[in-house]
Amino acid sequence: MERLIIFSPLITFIIGYHSGINFPRIFAGLFSVCAVIFYTSYVVVSITILTLCLAEFFLEKFYGNMKSLRRIFNDKLGKLVDELSSIKKDSDATKLALATNEKVIKNILHIYELSKDIAAYIDLEKMFSLIVDSLNQQFIIKDVAMKIFDGNKVFRKGIFFDIDETVKIPKISKNIIHLPLNVGDKYFGVISAKIPPLFEKDAEFVNEISAFVEELNPAVQRAILYLKVEEMSRTDGLTGLYRRGYFNERLEEEELRAKRSNGRFSILMMDIDHFKKVNDTYGHQAGDLVLKTVSEILKNSIYETDFAARYGGEEFVVIFPKTDPEGLKIKSEKIRQKIEEAEITVGLEKIKVTASFGIAHFPKDSQVAEEVLRYADISLYKSKQTGRNKVTEFKKTA
Ligand code: GH3
Ligand code: MG
Ligand code: MG
Repeated sequence: MERLIIFSPLITFIIGYHSGINFPRIFAGLFSVCAVIFYTSYVVVSITILTLCLAEFFLEKFYGNMKSLRRIFNDKLGKLVDELSSIKKDSDATKLALATNEKVIKNILHIYELSKDIAAYIDLEKMFSLIVDSLNQQFIIKDVAMKIFDGNKVFRKGIFFDIDETVKIPKISKNIIHLPLNVGDKYFGVISAKIPPLFEKDAEFVNEISAFVEELNPAVQRAILYLKVEEMSRTDGLTGLYRRGYFNERLEEEELRAKRSNGRFSILMMDIDHFKKVNDTYGHQAGDLVLKTVSEILKNSIYETDFAARYGGEEFVVIFPKTDPEGLKIKSEKIRQKIEEAEITVGLEKIKVTASFGIAHFPKDSQVAEEVLRYADISLYKSKQTGRNKVTEFKKTA
């Protein structure tokens, strides 16, 4: 019986411990107390059970505390992770903003460099071709028009579109951006460009292209002034040859003279081959040097009485009064050879160019000077079409 009394609390405790029920534990405790009171000989055993009960009770409490501590710790850790990820997100956004700013600054600097290069030129036509190149390079823009109000000059590249001359601030309408050219309140022109669809609603693009045009304003104004002064002179500043306007006057005179005296004259047109490539490869300054050299060759190959002019960018025209057509063909061939053989030194490089020619005769081909000019141009075109670096004489059947 005593053994049962002693062991029953132990058994109850074990059941209680494993099934986690508090009641058997209390029961075990009470039994132990009774055992101590009524059976003093089992005091040690009873105290051991009681200690086990108490130890288990406190351990459970401790474990419970640990559990709640762990929960708090997990909560805090979770919050910390959230905070860290939001900080990371913020820093990513900052990084992106910094990268975008860097890109904007880089673009603006590039635009500034481009406009500085363009401003080094004084010729409006050349300037326009450089503006087109820069717009193409920077914004993939290919179709550009520039109108200068003074003298109603229009420069175009690419497809045709209307220019809005009234703009006072940059304006986009129907895929075309119109950018005013002005210095202060003085609006002297407009640059219009067809913009790629991806830029249509891009505010940054509008800012950048406006900044580019703003940088150009003083240079364009200077070029307009230069053009006005140049127009007043008969010779072209770069080549020293006569200008197109004066050439037209001289052609009329030559026609009258030839008609009066039953005389004749011939027209030679010449265009440098792949000249754009020279500019693109070696720069416009090298291009200018080529133009000068070719002009020199031309000037040195003709008589004082012949009349040479720069007809366009890299196009030349010569009037040969009283010339024998056969002799002119030989002469033209010599000029072609001289140009082909010339070496033009640009820095450490030596550039070689060729030119294509077209010739036509008055009155053999036509009795109207303007038509002879057109025939010379047609023949030049034929030289281009059939391989360049050659002289083509006009033939009616051609
Ligand atoms: P093609 O053989 O068919 O004549 O080809 P091209 O490249 O010579 O002809 P294109 O008309 O395409 O290019 C002419 C180039 O001449 C374009 C223009 O930028 C350049 N140009 C016009 N005037 C000047 C000038 O005064 N100086 C320089 N450096 N380049 C000029
Ligand atoms: Mg050419
Ligand atoms: Mg040409």
